[in-house]
Amino acid sequence: MSGQSLLPKVWFVGAGPGDPDLVTVKGRDLIARADAILFAGSLVQAAATQWAPAHCEVMDSKDMTLEQITDWLIEKAKPGKTVIRLQTGDPGLYGALIEMVQPLDAAGIAVEVVPGVSSAMAAMACAVESLTLPEVTQTVILTRVEGRTPMPEGESLRELASHHSTLCLFLSITLLPIIQTELKAAGWADDAPVLVVHKASWPGEQQIIRGTLADIREKCREAKINSQAMIVVSPTLGARHWPDLKKSKLYDAGFTHRFRRAERPKTEEQA
Ligand code: SAH
Repeated sequence: MSGQSLLPKVWFVGAGPGDPDLVTVKGRDLIARADAILFAGSLVQAAATQWAPAHCEVMDSKDMTLEQITDWLIEKAKPGKTVIRLQTGDPGLYGALIEMVQPLDAAGIAVEVVPGVSSAMAAMACAVESLTLPEVTQTVILTRVEGRTPMPEGESLRELASHHSTLCLFLSITLLPIIQTELKAAGWADDAPVLVVHKASWPGEQQIIRGTLADIREKCREAKINSQAMIVVSPTLGARHWPDLKKSKLYDAGFTHRFRRAERPKTEEQA
C-alpha cells in the first residue's frame, strides 16, 4: 500500500459477510494500522476489529444517526491518521455509502472505498451454488422487497422476477409472503427452488435452509429465522445434482479462446 496521505481521509472498508477471514487483505492491513474504527455493530462482528492496534479507538455505530456518524468520522480524520468506517458485506450495497460520503466531501476529507464480499456471494458459496449457469441464467439481480424505502419505477419484484434470472433478495426475510405472491404472479412455479441463508459465513451460527416457493416461509418459521438472512431464488439452485448439466464453453475441448486452442475434433474413425 502507498504511503500515508497527508490529507485527512476516511476509508470505507467492506468487512465481508461475517467470517473475519473474509475481510480482504487490503481491508485487514488498513485495520492493522487504524487509529479510529467506526463499525456497523448490528451485523459486523467485533471480531473484524481483532487486528486493530491497541491505541485504536473502536466504536459501534448501532445507536448513532447518520449525522452523528459523519460528525465522528470528520472529527477523527486528521492528516496522517487512518480512519475506517467498517461496513457489512460490500459498502456499495444497501450501505448508505453516498449519504456518508457527501458530508465528508463537503468537509474537504478524502474518501476511499475498499470493496467487500457481499452476503449474496457468501450465501451461495456456503451452499455450494452458482449464481449463473450456462443456458440456464446468465444474469443476477440484487434487489430487495419494498419496505419503508420505496422501490423506483420499473423495479417492482414482479417486474424483476419476470426475467427468471437469479434473484438475491436483501433485507426481505420478514416479507416472504410478498415474495411468494409476486414471484407466482411473475410465472414462477410453486416448486421453484429457494435458498435462505441466515448469518452466512458466521462461525458456528450459519444456517442454510432449502425449500420451494411454496414451503420456504414455513421452513423459515420453523427454523426461527427472521433477520440477517439472504434469500436466493434461482433456476440454478440444486444444479450440483443435475445429471444433464450444460457445461461452460470456456473449458470445452472444442472451443478456442485467448489462452487455449481447440483440440482438433475427433473423426469417427479415431473415436
Ligand atoms: N452491504 C451488505 C448488505 C447490507 S443490507 C452486503 O453486501 O451483504 C443487510 C442485509 O444483508 C440483511 O438484511 C441480509 O439480507 C443481508 N446480509 C448481510 N449479512 C448477511 C449474512 N452474513 N448472511 C445472510 N444475509 C446477510
